[in-house]
Amino acid sequence: MENLKKLKTWVQESKRIVFFGGAGVSTESGIPDFRSVDGLYNQKFDYPPETIISHSFFMKNPEYFFRFYREKMLPLGFSPNITHKKLAQWEEAGKLTAVITQNIDGLHQKAGSYRVLELHGSVLRNYCMKCHKGYSAEYVKNSQGICRCDCGGIVKPDVVLYEESLDSQVLEKSIYAIAQCDLLIVGGTSLTVYPAAGLLRYYPGHRLVLINRDETPYDNQADLVLHESLGKVFEQLP
Ligand code: NAD
Repeated sequence: MENLKKLKTWVQESKRIVFFGGAGVSTESGIPDFRSVDGLYNQKFDYPPETIISHSFFMKNPEYFFRFYREKMLPLGFSPNITHKKLAQWEEAGKLTAVITQNIDGLHQKAGSYRVLELHGSVLRNYCMKCHKGYSAEYVKNSQGICRCDCGGIVKPDVVLYEESLDSQVLEKSIYAIAQCDLLIVGGTSLTVYPAAGLLRYYPGHRLVLINRDETPYDNQADLVLHESLGKVFEQLP
């Protein structure tokens, strides 16, 4: 396949690769994404998922939030797949400067990546809203009803909910990494969640690669598009 051959060459030639990914990176580890046919948005709940995982809903109806969150958004016990692993190998080899992820599952770190910028936070960090004591994801998973701290405060997962803003330092580091990279690979994201999707405009080069099963609104701006599963592509990359 011509496109894959080109991508292999670009990977070989690059010294500052940045990978920007979304939920599709972890589907091959068994964690469902949001917008595929079998994703979270096509299942039926009392409220749309965007409503339940919004800041105002969390504040008004924390018990319902935690029920949904524990069942649908707390991916524990999953393992990294070939995409996570290869990215970690590129970092170790000194040819990848950052993984920017919209995922909250911690699988890049589990695969051995250190330079991970988590735009939407992580389920692995949870803090009491009153005294700021930290708690594990297992603590949240095993709690009943509203997850509470020893002090009685609510324990809030360190994930960015709808209506909340992104961490400005993570955002700045992501912009810097994208502006400096020589190959930007974007994969497993519908590129519909903002401001994350808008980061692509900071790439000044001519090696923007999109790997996604479905089409995205940015396909026509990319230098190379592969409508493939990430695992199939990454297992063939150097
Ligand atoms: P999305 O669900 O909107 O889009 C996922 C995209 O990945 C789809 O376009 C789909 O075609 C593609 N895809 C799925 N599996 C793939 C594969 N194996 N290979 C190639 N492409 C594949 O996801 P998004 O754009 O990341 O936005 C959803 C939001 O939900 C994100 O902000 C993310 O934080 C959150 N989320 C995270 C997780 C997680 O942490 N694993 C899971 C679900 C949702």
